[in-house]
Amino acid sequence: MPEKSFTKKGHVYLIGAGPGDPGLITVKGRECITRADVVIYDHLANEALLSFASLEAELIYAGKVAGAHNREQRQINELLVEKALAGRVVARLKGGDPFVFGRGGEECEALAAAGILFEVVPGVTAGIGAPAYAGIPLTHRDVTTSVAFVTGHEHPGKETSEIDWERLSLGSGTVVFYMGMKNLPQIAENLIAHGRSPETPVALIRWGTRPEQEILIGTLADIAEKAGKAGFKPPAITVVGDVVKLREKLRWFDNRPLSGRGIVVTRAADQAGEFSAMLAELGASVHECPTISIVSPEDCTELDWAIASLASFHWLVFTSVNAVKYFFERLAALGLDSRAIGACRVCAVGPKTATALLPSGVRADLVPDDYKAEGVIAAFRAMDIKGKRFLFPKGDKARDVIQSGLADLGGEVLAPVAYRNVIPEGLPEQVLAALEERRIDCITFTSSSTVENLGVMLGENRLLHLLEGVAVAAIGPVTARTCRELGLEIQIEPKESTLAALTEEVVKYFADKQ
Ligand code: SAH
Repeated sequence: MPEKSFTKKGHVYLIGAGPGDPGLITVKGRECITRADVVIYDHLANEALLSFASLEAELIYAGKVAGAHNREQRQINELLVEKALAGRVVARLKGGDPFVFGRGGEECEALAAAGILFEVVPGVTAGIGAPAYAGIPLTHRDVTTSVAFVTGHEHPGKETSEIDWERLSLGSGTVVFYMGMKNLPQIAENLIAHGRSPETPVALIRWGTRPEQEILIGTLADIAEKAGKAGFKPPAITVVGDVVKLREKLRWFDNRPLSGRGIVVTRAADQAGEFSAMLAELGASVHECPTISIVSPEDCTELDWAIASLASFHWLVFTSVNAVKYFFERLAALGLDSRAIGACRVCAVGPKTATALLPSGVRADLVPDDYKAEGVIAAFRAMDIKGKRFLFPKGDKARDVIQSGLADLGGEVLAPVAYRNVIPEGLPEQVLAALEERRIDCITFTSSSTVENLGVMLGENRLLHLLEGVAVAAIGPVTARTCRELGLEIQIEPKESTLAALTEEVVKYFADKQ
């Protein structure tokens, strides 16, 4: 990869984003997104991949919808050239593979003509990714030895077909059509007319590899009618061939306990990732909806003063990853680094907080056995801390356990606010759209504040309206009570208040629904 600093002109990475599951991008593709100044993405590239872009990167949506493309394609070419000529590093993110029905060739021609450096980073094309997630091997020794990738949408205005229907129809080769939804009746007719058996199995795979993947199985004889009846829409690929039958045995992605279920995770500050991952692993389409955002204190005077007098403290106590993050950010903002801690010893409430210290070069001296504020106090109780000075950079909503506990043991505690918890202004657009379009089956609340904050963000009436028919899952009795106070009925409540138990209960609830 060319180094940014060595090129006067910018350059362009044409990156295959893969078919949908963001995990299917290549390592190189992801690196290129990270180093780009501009990311230009199309509507088949999963937007989740944009989270790899740097915060300063300019993000440009260049999606195209079926219809008159030409002018738009020219504009995209011009945009790539313009951004690169301005000296920017451009990541052009395209669904699937850029050179498979992706017009990547045309974009490269425009770049070559303008003398701009480019690199092509291949991706998993939909014709490979979607069948894999549908449990359909494109080739199989006992079934077929060849596979063809064909456009189902020839250039409009073409008089005669350039597709060699005869060759595609003879033999047992698997045929994968891209962009074939509109022409599905003609595709099936052509194959039958040129000699394929009408009984040949066909699979339509829509939004392959995404949690919302949909599949329709039929034969050449009836697939067009079935698709019409079901209102099956693009983007979908069509797989024709006996390999489709193998899905009965090899289905693995869309038959997991939560496959096809839309679940909202109302994030509490630091547990969303883990919970979302558990649900996604079980097949759920997870929509993360932050109900708390973490920001700097309005006034840093007390924190700054504490930092300036760090040498006078015996212990620094961190009870969250956020505390670590905001404390060290403030240290850096004041032109200092971790050496400012000097001889001060460091306590971290648990392993995650301890790990968060490591990038700053700090190893925790004390991590209690019980990863809670109470555990911290218990650990200090075992030592003599009379007269010792403690610095406890805290969140504005922190419980009083640490401060009063340490003071009771004779410690002197200074607890400046290092970060604040605030309620975000609104819901992420995709979550709101999913709720409005009734694509959500379940909403999960993992603390009372997640419920209360969502109520504030939406207003109570709107909350109740949007959650009509949505199963409500509360992690425990306190959270459940808060839900009921807002007028929500609880369908799912585990006996034990843990994320694992909540997940299990969600699975049970939907298993009973089938
Ligand atoms: N360059 C892309 C193809 C773009 S053409 C690639 O390599 O995958 C657009 C067509 O790709 C769609 O009409 C559809 O047939 C197919 N496609 C793209 N993503 C898909 C997905 N997730 N599931 C099913 N088909 C998909």
